[in-house]
Amino acid sequence: MGDGSVLTDLERSDEDCILRFDDGVSFNLSYVSIRSRCQCAKCKPRQENEQKIIELEEEISRLILEKPKVELVGRYGIRFEWPTGCSSGIHSFIHLRKVSEELGKPLN
Ligand SMILES: [Zn+2]
Repeated sequence: MGDGSVLTDLERSDEDCILRFDDGVSFNLSYVSIRSRCQCAKCKPRQENEQKIIELEEEISRLILEKPKVELVGRYGIRFEWPTGCSSGIHSFIHLRKVSEELGKPLN
């Protein structure tokens, strides 16, 4: 069993997804949460401080988020392709684990 740094499975639903990690821990995480911690060049600077994060979250919460396409990037991350933009950012497994622990719902 791993240390939780590798995403082993991603199950997509319409509004959220289930992420399973190599330490056996799974989380339910909404697309809104993933987008509010978007790693693209445009959104990353908008997470520098709490005020900016709140503004970004408000903007994201107004979007209608559809199920994204997912592409594996090497052995360390995934790229989400959102119909509403922000498709260039790579979400490393480590980052997704952090977001899951902060905003997700543990399943086991
Ligand atoms: Zn973005």
